[in-house]
Amino acid sequence: MMKIDLVTIFQGILDGPFKESMIKRAIDQGFVEINLVDLRDYTHDQHRQVDDYPYGGGHGMVLKPEPLFEAIEDLKSRSGADQSRVILLTPQGRPFNQKRARELAEQEHLILICGRYEGVDERVRSTLVDEEISIGDFVLTGGELAAAAVVDAVVRLLPGFLAEEALADESFTELLLEYPHYTRPSEYRGMEVPSVLLSGNHGEIARWRRRQSLKRTLERRPDLLEEDDLLPEDKEYLEEIKKQQS
Ligand code: SAM
Repeated sequence: MMKIDLVTIFQGILDGPFKESMIKRAIDQGFVEINLVDLRDYTHDQHRQVDDYPYGGGHGMVLKPEPLFEAIEDLKSRSGADQSRVILLTPQGRPFNQKRARELAEQEHLILICGRYEGVDERVRSTLVDEEISIGDFVLTGGELAAAAVVDAVVRLLPGFLAEEALADESFTELLLEYPHYTRPSEYRGMEVPSVLLSGNHGEIARWRRRQSLKRTLERRPDLLEEDDLLPEDKEYLEEIKKQQS
């Protein structure tokens, strides 16, 4: 079973995301254990202080090194895991994506540090942290929502949790975006579901979906196509679309 510790000073923010739906099911079924760890439990002063003013002056506060060092060392030693991976959520980190989520789903123990204020003391980053993750080029007030997003993406990929078929066509599985979906009714306000989807011809449906995926990726995220190993017929189809567009 994978173990995930989230180190935070605002546990309340992380209370909800793991108590509903799929992630709750993964916890209940024993695929993952998720612990919210209060950083203030690793302070030794009356005020349980976790932050302090930045050396050199300037705006805001910085998370102090001592509680974070003690927390990470304690969580590692108590985990029982052979290896723990310590992740700092930061807008300065490597952009998170499905490939990284898949790799993290192979880990035994993750410790996610949720930053606050101006961030964490640099000595934490340079000594304790194995990896820095950003969930996008924007700045959140704290790392909790970023950590929740990472945990959600990783847990649903834990081996055996979701059926392989459910993941097979998903966006980014092959670096392509997923094809469009339709459900009943087959006609709504004059808008009809593409007839191929009602045909029962599974070969044709698969071909249509593949082409829709390629078209959608070309329109929305052409950068992904450069990295993907496309089949010769995919390349032909993309050339066809490009010609039609020019
Ligand atoms: N001063 C920092 C900077 O300019 O890089 C930003 C600090 S931000 C206000 C507070 C915390 O929110 C960060 O330490 C980090 O944990 C989290 N955070 C903010 N944006 C994030 C993002 N895009 N991805 C991951 N974590 C983020």
